[in-house]
Amino acid sequence: MAMNIKRPNGTEDVIPRDAHKWHTVEKIARETAESYGFGELRFPTFENTELFLRSVGETTDVVQKEMYTVKAKETEFTLRPEGTAGAIRAMLQNGLLNEALPQRIFYIISCFRHERPQAGRLREFHQFGLEMAGSPSPAADAEVISLAKKILDRLELRNIELHINSIGCPACRAKYHDALRAYFEPRKEELCDTCKERLVKNPMRLLDCKSPEDREIAKDAPVILDYLCEECSSHFTKLKKYLDIAGISYIVDPKIVRGLDYYTKTVFEFITTEIGAQGTVCGGGRYDGLIEQLGGQHTPALGFGMGLERLLLVMDKQGCDFLAPKKCDIYFATMGEPALEKAMKLSAQLREYGYFAEFDLMQRGLKAQMKYANKIGAAFTMVLGDNELAEGTAKLKEMESGEETKMSLDNKFETVFEEIYFNKMMNVMDDGNNPPFAFTGEDK
Ligand code: ATP
Ligand code: MG
Repeated sequence: MAMNIKRPNGTEDVIPRDAHKWHTVEKIARETAESYGFGELRFPTFENTELFLRSVGETTDVVQKEMYTVKAKETEFTLRPEGTAGAIRAMLQNGLLNEALPQRIFYIISCFRHERPQAGRLREFHQFGLEMAGSPSPAADAEVISLAKKILDRLELRNIELHINSIGCPACRAKYHDALRAYFEPRKEELCDTCKERLVKNPMRLLDCKSPEDREIAKDAPVILDYLCEECSSHFTKLKKYLDIAGISYIVDPKIVRGLDYYTKTVFEFITTEIGAQGTVCGGGRYDGLIEQLGGQHTPALGFGMGLERLLLVMDKQGCDFLAPKKCDIYFATMGEPALEKAMKLSAQLREYGYFAEFDLMQRGLKAQMKYANKIGAAFTMVLGDNELAEGTAKLKEMESGEETKMSLDNKFETVFEEIYFNKMMNVMDDGNNPPFAFTGEDK
């Protein structure tokens, strides 16, 4: 019977052939974060629903429309729609904020949002994210933005713009909300239903509406930057100065307000126009009030989330390089039981040294085995049969050149193999190619 259970809408499988793409992004992101002093945090996929209501905000799209809330027995919980809430919860619960500040953590997680699936918009998606807690200084904002930029640069993404804005503190925002209400009120009837509600509860969210009609109405809306208090304004000025010093170019974009309620002061997005409407590959900002809101002491903090599926879409589109997938170093073609046993032993020896060794498990004939070795792209092959076992030697064949080297099958086998393998790699590099264990492009 044919399998007719399919994966749920808006989810994706990653098959081994494509896994190296994910490994590339994860490796670069991880290494870059570590070089800025961030350590990995792991935390649960689901949390108490209240955590998200209190942090992401009751009037946001995420909470109102997109959360996966499940009830198991009598307990209700929610699959995380984003990383910050759970990460801060874990930092508080584990006392990290009582340790030396700033505390810096990163994570690679899956997130869940009930959205209409389309390219770059999934119901289960993945994020690389990080949070830095403790510093109120705009230097911390510059540091976090420069880290995100570094990751995108190391992945060699092109045509990505950094948009920054400041949405102020609750004090400046109160005045701004009044100005927005005054601006939108006369055209209230033309707004979408969600925005009519936003106008009452959280008018700044109007600027984040994706409907073209609402965007048109919002075109000349007052900008938050004109309403910033002294402190928020000088914070933003300093951030721009630090970005200038770091040589990071940016666009001040007062339309960036971000989709979650907890942001204060700096907000930013890295945007590409290359994958259609879903162009934000990274979004983040400062949230100085959130930790207190979740029961901690007042601790200024900030962070970002990078959508990995979107990042990979752009990388594929731009033909970016990925870490080469691991390929078979040596394939033993065997004839007969004693040869199979020898292949098992030699493979085990080589794997001890970190090589990728394979032998026949399908009881194929010699010809079919060689065809298979070709198909999997084995770098070397070695045929083992009764003669080879009797003589204690066999020929190691380098598949690309066809060159053969006679080798003794004794306990020096792996040392000799290592030498030949190393020489081959040196030759490959001399040719201007890269060895199969490094990047397909320039090593980073
Ligand atoms: P958008 O405006 O595109 O809906 P958002 O403001 O809801 O994004 P954030 O909550 O800031 O997104 O999440 C951080 C990043 O995670 C986004 O910039 C994006 O790259 C990615 N992301 C968000 N939602 C999805 C989704 N449904 N599918 C895939 N990636 C997503
Ligand atoms: Mg969204």
